[in-house]
Amino acid sequence: MGVLEKVRKLGGRFFVLIWLLCAAVVGAQWALAEFRRIQDVFELAAHQVYGSVARRVDQNESVLSAIDALLVSREQFDVAALSAFSREMLPRYPQLYAIEFYRSVTPENRAEFLAEMSARFGQSFYIRDYDIAGRRDWRPAPPRAQSLVVSMIEPDIPAASPVYGYDVLADPLFARDLRRALETGQKVSSRPFALYEGGGLAYVLMQPLRSDRAGRVGSRHDVSGVVGLVVLCDRMLQLPSEQLLPAGLELTVRLREDNGRLTPFFRRAAPVDDRWWPVLTRLEMRSVMSSEAQPFVLDVARDVRLDDLQLWQLLLREVFVLLLLCSGWLIYSQRQALRNERVRADEALFVQSERASVTLNAIHDGVVILRQDRTIEMANPIALRLVDMPADEVLGQPCHEVFRLLGELAAELAEDPISECFRTHAPVELPERMQLTTARGKVNFVEGGVAPLFSREGDLIGVVCALRDMGPLRQRTAAALEASEARVKEHLEKLSHVARLHTMGEMASGIAHELNQPLTAISNYCQASIQMLEGVEDAPPQVNSALKLAVAQASRAGEIIKRLRALVSKRAIEARLIDINQVVGNCMFLAEYDLRERGIEVVQLLSGYSIPVMADSIQLEQVVLNLLSNAMDALKDEPMMKRHVIVHTRREGKKGILEVRDTGRGISPDALEVLFHPFYSTKPHGMGLGLSICQTIVEQYGGLISAENIPASGACFRIELPLSLLEERERHAAL
Ligand code: ADP
Repeated sequence: MGVLEKVRKLGGRFFVLIWLLCAAVVGAQWALAEFRRIQDVFELAAHQVYGSVARRVDQNESVLSAIDALLVSREQFDVAALSAFSREMLPRYPQLYAIEFYRSVTPENRAEFLAEMSARFGQSFYIRDYDIAGRRDWRPAPPRAQSLVVSMIEPDIPAASPVYGYDVLADPLFARDLRRALETGQKVSSRPFALYEGGGLAYVLMQPLRSDRAGRVGSRHDVSGVVGLVVLCDRMLQLPSEQLLPAGLELTVRLREDNGRLTPFFRRAAPVDDRWWPVLTRLEMRSVMSSEAQPFVLDVARDVRLDDLQLWQLLLREVFVLLLLCSGWLIYSQRQALRNERVRADEALFVQSERASVTLNAIHDGVVILRQDRTIEMANPIALRLVDMPADEVLGQPCHEVFRLLGELAAELAEDPISECFRTHAPVELPERMQLTTARGKVNFVEGGVAPLFSREGDLIGVVCALRDMGPLRQRTAAALEASEARVKEHLEKLSHVARLHTMGEMASGIAHELNQPLTAISNYCQASIQMLEGVEDAPPQVNSALKLAVAQASRAGEIIKRLRALVSKRAIEARLIDINQVVGNCMFLAEYDLRERGIEVVQLLSGYSIPVMADSIQLEQVVLNLLSNAMDALKDEPMMKRHVIVHTRREGKKGILEVRDTGRGISPDALEVLFHPFYSTKPHGMGLGLSICQTIVEQYGGLISAENIPASGACFRIELPLSLLEERERHAAL
């Protein structure tokens, strides 16, 4: 995977991480805002509910206060006025179910009361109890020290008729609160009770009315009765604008007891919720009513479910964030791509300009770039060397102040090539023998050309001058010419040397011939002397032997001269069947003296068989003598103990082999290549013709001559010659 791929992959992961983080932050923010919104709505609703209930509580008490005020203003307790007032009030306050009056009946006014009530309801009227000892039924009440008997109910509906005569003070449901009201003279609420079958819960808000014995209302000495407002609990909690309130509100009214305990009074449960969404939390708010007579505490609660949250808002926000991130990422990656592109382009530009500058610095031509105003923009090191000025004195200077291009003769060129290029907008080649004159007056011969430089729009923005200094080239050419002339001269000298040697050879042949005569004469005279001495009796024996030695030496000298003559004499070359072993023997004879003189030990490893080849024996001897002579030269600087020459002859297949090895320093690898070239010699007075002649002779007979170094020894020259088939056949026949 490439580096770019990795970065891209990492970038992708980073993007997902950032997105998850943003999504989480947005989600958390939304959840917080949602919760606050729901809580605000709930609190507003709870306040509204509280306001509504509190208003109703106040209304209840106001009605009672109004009744109290109404009755106080009367001389006597006026049932009719109370009824009329009640009729007027009831429709205004829907929470009020009925207004009742409980007449205080004591033994003193019991008869009067019964008479009064019988007059209203007939003789069957009696004071009655309800739920005495737990039986919820009507039954006549026994005479009591004080009873509070229902004597007025407004609205006076027929269903309420059994309630007339009901001694509420004897009912445990009301007794405690009524007594408290009687004791304090203050308004008091009863416990809630079921109104009638299906009528719902209600409570009675009671206000004792005091009167004097004469029955005047308003006196604080006695209680004439108690006015009771029957309040419908449901209606108390009926809210004015149900639709505007959030659904699922749960209202509970608790009663604050004297000891501070809260007793559940009545409640309105939330409608049965068929939503299956899970409950997230429950919101609750408690408010305390300020009324003394109705010491209620209102609890408003509500379950918050998942579907109460505005999930679409979350979705919208998340989508928005994703879009924002995506566009951000897109912009970022585009900018990144652009940056990478720019970096790559910069890199390419750098490489290109570096390449151009290195090339300009490396080439052996001077390059000068001129701007349109003919000032010098760039000059490479060779150009600086040409104009003979440092870069800081050249760059930015007008071209003509640094150098001028002129023909060798002032008249040769009317217009200089730079001006011509600026004028024609075309490349101009410098004519031959163009001179570059520097500001310091130095003149160099240059070649090259001037080429125009165009902008992208095709406008001429400058020119490039390529200038090659012809000075060094001329010098090199002259030197090469001189060297080759020297070589030719040397060759000529060598050739004349060869010619001289040739002449000397001719002369040597003549001298040998001349010497042969006296030598033969010496030999003859010596032999004659020996014969003459044979007749003399007292001749000393040493003379005889000395003469014999003289004969032997003279014939040896004669032999040497004969062979030398044969070697240098001009004669027709004839190839005959000769034995290589024989040739070696002849050569050894000739070279014996030299070898011994130089202290060289010769080892002859000659084949037991003859090695017949077709060749001229003299020529072949010439070859072997030359090889022996070279071996002697090679051993010249070696210590005496290390001067050996090995001559080895053998047959190898159809070839006859002759090797001449020495224990000298051997041949250098370079020399091995050119050893057989004519005139190659490492010796101070060598001619370098020996091996070349040997090669010509050997190859003339279909043979091969080669040289090699023998490791830890010296050079080995090897001659291969084809065996003579005729001889071969004879040999096979003999076997
Ligand atoms: P010359 O003997 O005149 O130099 P040759 O053609 O015989 O010319 O030999 C050419 C060269 O070959 C010699 O100068 C020498 O450097 C090298 N050479 C010939 N024989 C030997 C040898 N046995 N050992 C080392 N170098 C040799």
